[in-house]
Amino acid sequence: MTDTITPSPSAPAAIQPIAPVFPSRGALRPLGLDEVRLTGGLWGDLHQLNADVIIEHCYGWMSRIGWITNFDRAAGVAGGAHDGIEFVDSEVYKLLEAMAWELGTRSDDVLETRYKDLVQRIGAAQEADGYLHTSFGRESQRPRYSDLEWGHELYCFGHLIQAAVARLRTGHDDDLPAIARRLADHLYLEFGPSGRPAVCGHPEVEMALAEFGRATGNARYLELATLLVERRGHEQLQTTLYQGHEYFLDDLPVRDAAVLRGHAVRALYLSSGAVDVAIENDDDELLAAVQTQWANTVARRTYITGGMGSHHQNEEFGDDYELPADRAYAETCASIGSVMLSWRLLLRTGEPRYADLIERTLLNGIFVSPREDGRAFYYANTLHQRTAGEEETASGLSERAEATLRAPWFEVSCCPTNVSRTLASLPGYVATSDDAGIQLHQYTPMQLDTTLIDGQRMRLRVSTHYPFDEKVVISISSDLVSPITLTLRVPAWAVDTAVATLNGEQVAVSGAAVAITRAFQQGDVIELVLPIEPRFTWPHPSIDAVRGQVAVESGPLVLALEDVDLPDGVTVDRVTVDTSVAPTRTSSGAAVSLRVHPPQATDWPFGAVERSAGAPFEADLIPYFRWANRGPSTMRVWLPKSDDL
Ligand SMILES: [Zn+2]
Repeated sequence: MTDTITPSPSAPAAIQPIAPVFPSRGALRPLGLDEVRLTGGLWGDLHQLNADVIIEHCYGWMSRIGWITNFDRAAGVAGGAHDGIEFVDSEVYKLLEAMAWELGTRSDDVLETRYKDLVQRIGAAQEADGYLHTSFGRESQRPRYSDLEWGHELYCFGHLIQAAVARLRTGHDDDLPAIARRLADHLYLEFGPSGRPAVCGHPEVEMALAEFGRATGNARYLELATLLVERRGHEQLQTTLYQGHEYFLDDLPVRDAAVLRGHAVRALYLSSGAVDVAIENDDDELLAAVQTQWANTVARRTYITGGMGSHHQNEEFGDDYELPADRAYAETCASIGSVMLSWRLLLRTGEPRYADLIERTLLNGIFVSPREDGRAFYYANTLHQRTAGEEETASGLSERAEATLRAPWFEVSCCPTNVSRTLASLPGYVATSDDAGIQLHQYTPMQLDTTLIDGQRMRLRVSTHYPFDEKVVISISSDLVSPITLTLRVPAWAVDTAVATLNGEQVAVSGAAVAITRAFQQGDVIELVLPIEPRFTWPHPSIDAVRGQVAVESGPLVLALEDVDLPDGVTVDRVTVDTSVAPTRTSSGAAVSLRVHPPQATDWPFGAVERSAGAPFEADLIPYFRWANRGPSTMRVWLPKSDDL
């Protein structure tokens, strides 16, 4: 560890798209944020809300509560004690990543000035050997790497490196990538082949290093990422009474595990890094292991919203089919990690099941987090709120996940900044290309303009109100000389009902895709109809917590019943649903036939008392992601079936 190391070779990186992930090989290639422009709709509005409000909100909070000043303290230009828990550096880095994506696609002098100021202050805190952390190694602080289980040092480094990847991919090899190179080179010395054979308690740096290797062309970073993935799972990290090896994903090597387990965010970040490493090393065994874990986790350990992690204790996955609605943890960051993992697997394989889960998770598990005004966030995402919560104060820090309504900021505030960087890179998850043409995976108003591998320029526009309407219109605005294939994903729920036309003529829907091969001409119009009639969805019978209950979905949206849509004084715990009456579509979601139990005062809530179901009435359901935007309320996704039916 005292070896000197030559500076990283500055091999010119291949031209890369402005995209959050860019594997060197795979079935599909990502398109850049400059090639897909969102033009309103649900996705576009959230992308804009992030640019207009959320980035500023995160910056304002971290300025106010000292998390940015921590870097000045570390640099010796500000006094006072470190503010916040030991991994708050990572929040500043995630915000930097969001800023970098934004600056890569539009000019904004105020944002650019702020970005450069942040980078300068972070750079000033970097030590001569490349180490950069505001919580360790200085006088009155714990020594470096003295608490790998809980210190989150490499986790923070990973987020800095990912912000640098965003800066590189947006065409700037400047100060932040230089800081990241020094840090990554330091890491290689400390944890590389000649360094200490250890891992960080919280995975993250694995995918960051793999991506940094892709973005810089420096193979050493991929080598270190590979070492860190392979080293994990050998029971090295110190356990506690409550956190065992599984919590840290240190119980089994990634390639030997069958399902995701332990801390959900850690598991999903590690899996994402493992996919990156597997792809770059052509390691099909490792890739297949993660694919198996993905499939088993989706089949048995995932909420209908795409949320993952059913234990508040340790933020962990539960057992198979242990998915309680009212105690769902389903951390926003776990949903983001799930999208990161599925996106990597989609790019590698082209299989639509990964895009299906991305859509479900984004719309229901992530878009639920920010409040409509972008100034408060959910950390945990219950599927059943029994008591109306209290508004968080605008100035106070919320406990990690105990907010019953969205909170402006948290003591552990991983979710808001994670939402911000995800929304900033949202256009990157819509479409891809391959040697044969273009694939549309998600449907939202947008304009696509890209040059295909054969040199032809393809431009198209998508007009739609999906997921609130069923029709998606794709208008071609370029003349091609030779045929390409335009592939449209058909979500699993629409495989039997989707209809597609080209210039009014019906075209075949084949399973989960519509593929049209043609020398497209300006004026060609493709219509895809994805019927979104609301439907009852029944749970797997082994999910005890919601047995005898149904959810209502409309297209990709999970719907929810909120008490503000019930008669006065009725909470969601007193209703049952009449499943013999099909749900009907409304402008806001769906209407269902409910019954309300009259209040029953008893000394003992069990016994041979037959429940009275009450008279039927109709009530509206709204998209789950919109709940709790009308003040404190009770809410539930799973509705008990009326028992006299
Ligand atoms: Zn989080």
